[in-house]
Amino acid sequence: MKILAFESSCDETSVAVVEDGKKILSNIISTQIDIHKEFGGVVPEIASRHHIENILPVFTEALEKANCKLSDIDYIAVTNTPGLIGSLLVGLMFAKSLSYANNIPLIPVNHINGHIFSSFIDNDVKLPAISLVVSGGHTNLYYIYEENGKIITDLLGETLDDAVGETYDKIARILGLEYPGGPHIDKLSVSGKDILKIKKPKVDGYNFSFSGIKTFITNYVNTQNMKGNPFSKEDIAKSLQEIIVNVLYDKILMAVKEKDVKTILVAGGVSANKRLREKFLEFTNLKTDENEQIQVHFPKMEYCTDNAAMIGVAAYYDLKNNSQGELKQYDVDAISTKN
Ligand code: ATP
Ligand code: FE
Ligand code: MG
Repeated sequence: MKILAFESSCDETSVAVVEDGKKILSNIISTQIDIHKEFGGVVPEIASRHHIENILPVFTEALEKANCKLSDIDYIAVTNTPGLIGSLLVGLMFAKSLSYANNIPLIPVNHINGHIFSSFIDNDVKLPAISLVVSGGHTNLYYIYEENGKIITDLLGETLDDAVGETYDKIARILGLEYPGGPHIDKLSVSGKDILKIKKPKVDGYNFSFSGIKTFITNYVNTQNMKGNPFSKEDIAKSLQEIIVNVLYDKILMAVKEKDVKTILVAGGVSANKRLREKFLEFTNLKTDENEQIQVHFPKMEYCTDNAAMIGVAAYYDLKNNSQGELKQYDVDAISTKN
């Protein structure tokens, strides 16, 4: 079964062909990072215009690379929420038109569900699992289990304020680093020391809070500047990495202790982070309830940030779950926020 998938929720235009929910026949990604860099973040109107320019060539290349014709495609999947409304609309209208004109059923996909299922590409995931989605706009923790042949994703907790990727990007901006800041901070931190030793935010249960960490670092930088004292970007980067990675680690550890967990999945743009990957390998020293080693899976780099392959895989599991029933194209709308 072949799914043609579209992703255009933010600043990546991506089209993929996914076979049987596992095999990625093509995954073409056209990123606009270089265009938005000079503004220090994504400018929605500019993003929409570039999606319009990019979507046809990216779509053509994805079919060619997969060696497919439209007549080989069984379903069309498309991100319809959450994201920038103009950006979402470009992908959705393109996918809808193809679906109508060629009589191929349309499957709307939640972008965050896409990030969750990016962990299922190239991995045989043993359930139940804990999934952490750490991206530009989200920091969500899920418990994923199987019930009556269906895969259930239960939201355990989420950030009460800033997302982890957002925190990286905002601190990077303060340090004068280019957008997106996460990869720059990751690199700089290697030669830094954890001099700030930031305290862990006190948040009950599985929720997170990162805005206090951002304020703490902002105040530190402003104070140093006011006093005319130099500060090390490397040390700030290292201090940020340590506090963020430790907070995420602690919440997952709590879930592993409280629940039956066989696997830990980490997805979203921040899952590319080197320190996070290194620290999370410590989970493999823990045992499941059946005394087996806990497994930790990270997506390949190209599936960490936004891509259409993950949207196709999420659509495949949606179909397996039969969670949407019979959908009509005109029932599907673009929705910018998750609520
Ligand atoms: P969402 O998925 O919540 O809608 P998004 O799609 O913009 O947001 P992604 O594309 O999944 O988010 O991820 C982008 C984020 O990942 C940016 O905030 C970026 O700084 C961060 N990021 C990328 N690489 C790294 C890294 N090595 N370390 C830390 N953060 C990183
Ligand atoms: Fe994303
Ligand atoms: Mg992005």
